Amino acid sequence: MTFPLKSPNPAAKYRAVFRCISGCPGDYPLNEIIYQCPKCQDLLEVVHDLDPLRMTPPEEWRDVFDSRFMRTFWPYGSGVWGKKEFVCPDVLDENIVSTCEGGSNLFWAEQLGYRWGLKDLWIKQCGNSHSGSFKDLGMTVLVSMVKQMRHEGKNIPAVACASTGDTSASLAAYCATAGIPAIVFLPKNKVSSAQLVQPLAHGAITLAIDTDFDGCMQIVKEITGRNNIYLANSMNSLRIEGQKTISFELCQQFDWEVPDLIVIPGGNLGNVSALGQGFLLMKAVGLIDRMPRIVCAQAENANPLYLSYLKSFNEFDSVPAKPTLASAIQIGNPVSVKKAIRVLKRFNGTVEQASEAELAEAAAEGDLTGLYNCPHTGVALAALKKIIRRGEVRPDERIVVISTAHGLKFTSFKTRYHTSEYKDIECRFANPPIEVHATYDAVRNALFRSLDARNAQISKA
Ligand SMILES: *Cc1c(COP(=O)(O)O)cnc(C)c1O
Ligand SMILES: [Zn+2]
Repeated sequence: MTFPLKSPNPAAKYRAVFRCISGCPGDYPLNEIIYQCPKCQDLLEVVHDLDPLRMTPPEEWRDVFDSRFMRTFWPYGSGVWGKKEFVCPDVLDENIVSTCEGGSNLFWAEQLGYRWGLKDLWIKQCGNSHSGSFKDLGMTVLVSMVKQMRHEGKNIPAVACASTGDTSASLAAYCATAGIPAIVFLPKNKVSSAQLVQPLAHGAITLAIDTDFDGCMQIVKEITGRNNIYLANSMNSLRIEGQKTISFELCQQFDWEVPDLIVIPGGNLGNVSALGQGFLLMKAVGLIDRMPRIVCAQAENANPLYLSYLKSFNEFDSVPAKPTLASAIQIGNPVSVKKAIRVLKRFNGTVEQASEAELAEAAAEGDLTGLYNCPHTGVALAALKKIIRRGEVRPDERIVVISTAHGLKFTSFKTRYHTSEYKDIECRFANPPIEVHATYDAVRNALFRSLDARNAQISKA
């Protein structure tokens, strides 16, 4: 299939480098194996040269993006690579490892909005992706760069990550797509069975380690630091570059209008940083002219950013992360905390937390209105509900909740909720199957009893 693919200004030479987030001098090319500033050990970030990006006017960029979005011209149909010039300009198209990530549905949450008194509530379904989470958006960039570096002759025999379940699933999928060996470090018995099976199925070397995520992170840093194995965790800011296309895609899906408020769950805090970076870059080249408010939502059991927010971000202390149903954000020592705080300060940002009961009820209430939420999206929904109760949003504000993983990865969480197995949770929306004898009368009676109960509920509401 051919169609006129719009191109940006052919004279522009796009350029991006790694730079220290604390301002140490020095630029490092994106195809160098480097994760931290050699001078101060702080994180690096990808900085784009704005001049060549500004050589194409914003209206033309919008046309370029729209001409590519979800079409078949490799690799630009991908939601990430359709913004290649803003993401990772140097990687050759032939080295790109893509599963056509991005392009996820922006779900109008009409029913949930109605229940919560909002007219313009949307859920960005980032979990509806190749490996079932938003991690694909960043992983495509990282694994593409690995393929490019191997192509250039660099000795990278494998790529490794520590994970709370979704990073490893995504890394394993992209490495399998590219034919590159993957190694994943998982906290033993702390990821869902779907998340454990994913890297196994993709042939990744899978280590189940007797510690938590923060412990796995320590080990993978040492392994990748002392051996020539490439580190795929989000301290590697190539991933942030891909994830930041969430912001581009949101604006594109709203015909380049900026939403008023975005709620996003946070664990290692790479995603909230990426969200902010995306908006800053769009503003810098004139693609948008205002900024949204950002709310980062944490599980109460793993809430170091929330605690820091209560002290106006003047101090930050890591915490031991307690078990939470939102297992992908059970992180007490988030790698990207400095980036996240910087973003929240620039976006009039707040942090909210959700208890186990609050996140489970909010996820279930969302499901009841047509979604199929993971517990982390439940954290974001619960945070939104608290903010609404406090009167901090207007009913007509355009609000987007970032949904991070597919609910199908968390079947046991949902099964246990609907059979009211959680002792400390009321399970207000539990809807267990009705067991009934195989006769007309028994079925009819059971059926109408349930319908009556439901109608009574609706007239009460
Ligand atoms: C990774 C992940 C998060 C948290 O993202 P961070 O960048 O670590 O803050 C939230 N939800 C799900 C499902 C995830 O996999
Ligand atoms: Zn530095």
